[in-house]
Amino acid sequence: MQLMENFSLKSYNTFNVACIARYFSCFENEEQLQDSLDMLNMKNLLILGGGSNILFTKNFDGHVLKNECKGIAVVHEDVDFVYVKAGGGENWHQFVQYCVGRGWGGLENLSLIPGNVGAAPIQNIGAYGVEIKDILWSVEAFHLQERKIKTFSNTDCNFKYRDSVFKSKFKNQFAILSVIFQLRKTPVFSTNYGAISQELERMQVQKLSVIAIADAVINIRRSKLPDPAILGSAGSFFKNPIVEIDICQNLKNKFPEIVFFPAGKNKMKLSAGWLIEQCGWKGIRKGDAGCFDKQALVLVNYGAASGIDIMNLSMGIETSVFYKFGIRLEREVNIL
Ligand SMILES: Cc1cc2nc3c(=O)[nH]c(=O)nc-3n(C[C@H](O)[C@H](O)[C@H](O)COP(=O)(O)OP(=O)(O)OC[C@H]3O[C@@H](n4cnc5c(N)ncnc54)[C@H](O)[C@@H]3O)c2cc1C
Repeated sequence: MQLMENFSLKSYNTFNVACIARYFSCFENEEQLQDSLDMLNMKNLLILGGGSNILFTKNFDGHVLKNECKGIAVVHEDVDFVYVKAGGGENWHQFVQYCVGRGWGGLENLSLIPGNVGAAPIQNIGAYGVEIKDILWSVEAFHLQERKIKTFSNTDCNFKYRDSVFKSKFKNQFAILSVIFQLRKTPVFSTNYGAISQELERMQVQKLSVIAIADAVINIRRSKLPDPAILGSAGSFFKNPIVEIDICQNLKNKFPEIVFFPAGKNKMKLSAGWLIEQCGWKGIRKGDAGCFDKQALVLVNYGAASGIDIMNLSMGIETSVFYKFGIRLEREVNIL
């Protein structure tokens, strides 16, 4: 295990912004994580996955620990389900492809989300009508201060829309070492969300399968979202605001075209992308920081933007959305 000092994180975050970590090391298992923690005994710690949900606005004066815990294995099977354990350092999309390739159902709608398995429970990743909470069985996590392993059941994780205990009550307290998923041997397909059925039709799919759905999702995502290898971003910068039904109705009276979806009892989820677009931000560029021209919810780095440039752009967007609609946008991206 190697400890690096004053280590550049530019290629370790998908926004591709410059940032120096005071210390950096990788761990492949619990023992290496313990050793890394002992080595410096620092309070300021950051567990890093693929860096696809982080915006660095300043250098990190602490110890960055990159999760490299690998391995995929079936740990249990019954008549209906297969239980698959994946190391926190496994690439998310490669893991999804592994399961889809074996015909196991549940992960296909979550294809092509950047990042690693260990970060997926943190914000309960979701796309195309599915969230990780729908297929997560348990999480094995290491308490960074108490130095011991705790297993969280699905219920313990207290999953909500882009939220979990790991992002709220236990923020920065645990390193997720592995996750067990409960996947269906006979898949139940979810094709009603977004443009999945149109894409399946366009692809002339005759027989529905998890592979066909994964391919459809991949095609749609490639057509709408920036590829982090080409254009820096962290995907959706803001969450879709959830409001009381009467607030949504008032907005609809004023703005009949407003886009929203049911979000539980007496709640509606507003499309943040629509709100931002209505304020004229879509495609706007301030220096090298920009609001993506195909999806206003995504902020991008055209090359040399700093974390502060992107933050400033996001604050301009938040102000105009509040001024026009009275809605406060909440950031989905972790700001550091
Ligand atoms: C183009 C693009 C599209 C995206 N689309 C989606 C989408 O459709 N849906 C969605 O939900 N998200 C999406 N995202 C956001 C992002 O991919 C996910 O949030 C992903 O789970 C982040 O994984 P990561 O490994 O990159 O996490 P990182 O960015 O490295 O970390 C994110 C947070 O999790 C913590 N963390 C990371 N790993 C661990 C661990 N093992 N243990 C404890 N804490 C940890 C970090 O400290 C940090 O606070 C998108 C991002 C991009 C760039």
